[in-house]
Amino acid sequence: MAAAAYLVRDCKFPGKQITIYEGMHILGGSNDGIGTPEKGFVCRGGRMLNEETYENFWELFDSIPSIAQPGRSVTEEILNFDHAHPTCAKARLVDKDGNILPVKSMGFNQADRMALLKLLTTDEKKLDNLTIQDWFKETPHMFETNFWYMWQTTFAFQKWSSLYEFRRYMNRMIFEFSRIETLEGVTRTPLNQYDSVIRPLESYLRKEGVTFVENCEVTDIDFEDGHGITAKTLYLRRRVENAEETEENGSSSEDSYVNETVELKRSDICIMTNACMTDSATLGDMYTPAPAPLQKPVSGELWAKVAAKKPGLGNPEPFFSKPQESNWLSFTVTCKGDEILKTIENLREMFPAAARS
Ligand SMILES: Cc1cc2nc3c(=O)[nH]c(=O)nc-3n(C[C@H](O)[C@H](O)[C@H](O)COP(=O)(O)OP(=O)(O)OC[C@H]3O[C@@H](n4cnc5c(N)ncnc54)[C@H](O)[C@@H]3O)c2cc1C
Repeated sequence: MAAAAYLVRDCKFPGKQITIYEGMHILGGSNDGIGTPEKGFVCRGGRMLNEETYENFWELFDSIPSIAQPGRSVTEEILNFDHAHPTCAKARLVDKDGNILPVKSMGFNQADRMALLKLLTTDEKKLDNLTIQDWFKETPHMFETNFWYMWQTTFAFQKWSSLYEFRRYMNRMIFEFSRIETLEGVTRTPLNQYDSVIRPLESYLRKEGVTFVENCEVTDIDFEDGHGITAKTLYLRRRVENAEETEENGSSSEDSYVNETVELKRSDICIMTNACMTDSATLGDMYTPAPAPLQKPVSGELWAKVAAKKPGLGNPEPFFSKPQESNWLSFTVTCKGDEILKTIENLREMFPAAARS
C-alpha cells in the first residue's frame, strides 16, 4: 500500500492503473488490529513507532489526510497525540512478587560492553547464520543484565534469534538505548494501527482510483527468460465467499476458489511482498488454544517459487524451516470495565494513556 502511495504521489502514476492483490479478506497486512467492542479486538502485531528514525513513515503519512481530524495529516494526528500523552513507563521490570525493579543501570560489566560495541562495529556480512547466543557465548552475563531483559521484551528477541536482526535493531533504535528504561522514544498511535494508519491510507488510495482485490492469493509468477527479473504472468487464486456467516479470518468451509492469470505488459511494474510476518497466524481465545497452522503460508510459498526461478530474490528457507524458534504468541485484551487499566495504572504510577506497553 505504501508502494502504491509513492507511485501515485511521487511518480504521478494514475491510481486507476494500480491493482493490489491481497490474500486476506482485510487490508493492511500485519497492521490488522481490528475488531468490535462486542466481539473483541485482535492485533496480531503491535507497532511501536519512533519519531527520530521512522523518517519514511512520517514523510509519507504527512501526505495522507487523517480521517479523525480533517485538515490534518496522519503524521500530525499521531505526533500530536503522542506529544500530549508521552510514554514514560515507571515499571519496566517487575519481579514475580509484583515489585518494581530498579533499572537505572543497564547492569553491564566491562566484558558485556566490549562485546556489544564489537558487534555494532562488525560488518554485517560476517554475521551470517549466527544467533545472538553465538555472539555472546564468552560473555553469558549479558543475558542477566537489565539491558537484555528490557531490550529483549521490547523488541521480541530470544537468545536464539538472528544476530543480524539484533544488530539492525541496535542501529535502528539506537536512540532508545538511553531511554529504554522509560520507553520514552516509543511513539504510539491514538487508535490501533489499522484504524490510525491503514484506514486513512486505504481511503487516500481509493480516492486516487487504486483497485483492491481482497481474498486473492498470488500463487506464482512467471518471468521472461534471460538475466533480468521481468515478471510476465501472475497466477491468482481468488476466494469466492458463498456462506453468509464467516470465520474471524473471513473464510468459511463453503468458500469456492477461482484460478485466474494476469498477463503483464512490457511497461507494467510488478511489486511483490516477499513473506508476511503474520501469514501463519491462527487465533485462539480465552478457552481455546490457537491451533497449529495447517496450510503453508501463502507469501512464503510464492517467495520460494520465485526464488527458485530467479537468482537474487533471497532465501525464504530460514524464515519458515524452524517454526519452534520463530513463532510467537501475542495477546490482545478487550476489557469490559476498567479493572485492568486501574491495576496497570497503579503499578505504573502513571496516566492510563501512557500505560500502553
Ligand atoms: C508481533 C509483531 C510486532 C511488531 N512490532 C513492530 C514494531 O513495534 N514496530 C515496527 O515498526 N514494526 C513492527 N512489526 C513489523 C511490521 O508489522 C512489519 O514490518 C510490517 O507490517 C511490514 O509491512 P508490509 O506491508 O511489508 O508487509 P505485511 O504487513 O506483512 O503485509 C503483506 C501483505 O501481503 C499479503 N500477501 C503476502 N503474500 C501474498 C500473496 N502471495 N498473495 C496475496 N497476498 C499476499 C499478506 O496477506 C499481507 O496482507 C511487528 C510485527 C509483528 C508481527
